[in-house]
Amino acid sequence: MEILNGKLVAESIKEKIKHATQSEFVEKGKSVPVLACIIVGDNPASKVYVASKEKACLSVGFGSIVKVLKEDASESDVIDVIEELNKDESVSGILLQLPLPKGLDERKIISHISPEKDVDGLTEINLGRLFSKRTLVAPCTAIGIIHILEHYGICMEGKNAVVIGRSLLVGKSVASLLEEKNATVTICHSKTTNLEEITKNADILIAAIGKPKFVTADMVKDGAIVVDVGINRTDAGLVGDVDFESVASKVSFITPVPGGVGPMTIAELLSNTLLLHEKAQEARE
Ligand code: NAP
Repeated sequence: MEILNGKLVAESIKEKIKHATQSEFVEKGKSVPVLACIIVGDNPASKVYVASKEKACLSVGFGSIVKVLKEDASESDVIDVIEELNKDESVSGILLQLPLPKGLDERKIISHISPEKDVDGLTEINLGRLFSKRTLVAPCTAIGIIHILEHYGICMEGKNAVVIGRSLLVGKSVASLLEEKNATVTICHSKTTNLEEITKNADILIAAIGKPKFVTADMVKDGAIVVDVGINRTDAGLVGDVDFESVASKVSFITPVPGGVGPMTIAELLSNTLLLHEKAQEARE
């Protein structure tokens, strides 16, 4: 069994981004990429994520803006901040930290982000581009999964790939990218009746459920490649959606939690910000 070390792969991506920022922008006297994160409310996990995104931006030489809105902010309050950032030419990318407090319509609010600044690729335009194979930017976690598999030389073509979870953020997006790599993809969800039968047939199994240690050894084929997207805070600490201890011994590759998909997501966020910044500068020149 080999560990898919997302932390290591993410570091090498960040190093390349840092280098590109220096040579393409700083040395040429051009403006550097700037990521704006919007956080609404007091979700402690969201605060940690936004702080680590800000730290990551600064570590590669990007600018970072964090807009903090109160728990009782209205939809129009959040949309106003988005519109202001859309207009601000110094901002390359906008990220709305999810989940939003109850009562706010995520899809409606996201639709106000300019597709050209939509770093997480979650506006309808960018999802449409992704699903029609004309991707501008793909959702960070989904593309991070593909890149970690590629980094370890894992060929997806012809493999049976099973994705548990069908969110736009992860499940559906990674399924589309796996299909683009010519895997044969099955998407499972909470209404799937014969889950274990399907997962046992997976050469590549992606778990994006949000339930601690949900995937157990009896659900996994010998020699499978397992990617654990889950981040669950439990009394025992941070755990994934896969029962790592029991599953690791029978698979060929597996991502750990933490240190697997999480760091890849942040590296891809930087990568998408850089790309959108380059496109915006090209359009202005
Ligand atoms: P989500 O929107 O809540 O989606 C969860 C999916 O799991 C849904 O499609 C749901 O099915 C499915 N599901 C729930 N119970 C199930 C069951 N018993 N059997 C089969 N499928 C089941 O969550 P998400 O945003 O995709 O995130 C999933 C996990 O990944 C969470 O732990 C989240 O914290 C983590 N995450 C990690 C990163 C990272 O950077 N590592 C990034 C994003 C998310 P239905 O559609 O039928 O409800």
